[in-house]
Amino acid sequence: MNSDSALPGNFCSQCGKSPAGNHVCFGGTGESVVMCDDCLARQSSSIADFFKEAKNAECDFCGGSPCTGGPEFLTPSAEGNVANRWLCGSCAPDYHTFLQTKMADLVEVSDYEKQLEEMKRIAGEAEVHMKQFVRRRDN
Ligand SMILES: [Zn+2]
Ligand SMILES: [Zn+2]
Repeated sequence: MNSDSALPGNFCSQCGKSPAGNHVCFGGTGESVVMCDDCLARQSSSIADFFKEAKNAECDFCGGSPCTGGPEFLTPSAEGNVANRWLCGSCAPDYHTFLQTKMADLVEVSDYEKQLEEMKRIAGEAEVHMKQFVRRRDN
């Protein structure tokens, strides 16, 4: 069996025939998509770009190969662009649990401006938290 870059048994979710070399889960939703190169080429360019970026991306926190990618709305750049946040299978659950716990408190905040401020603070805390998490895990 020729396994190329695809995992054995990981078949394209579009055609179901070819081994899928492209794998992406969408940030936080747990939804994942696998696609072969042929089907990927038929997707809209924004999806194809997303997969292409995913293939070359590294986990933002440990540099591992990413399992989850998606727009990071918490930390838009100065120009208001939303960069994609990439996470490996090990960092993703911890990151999302941390954010979910913190965001739950935000429901209490009714002022939109204040919410944005709080989200920025949480994003900063998440960075620190994940650095500690990775250090603990890799040592
Ligand atoms: Zn396919
Ligand atoms: Zn990672």
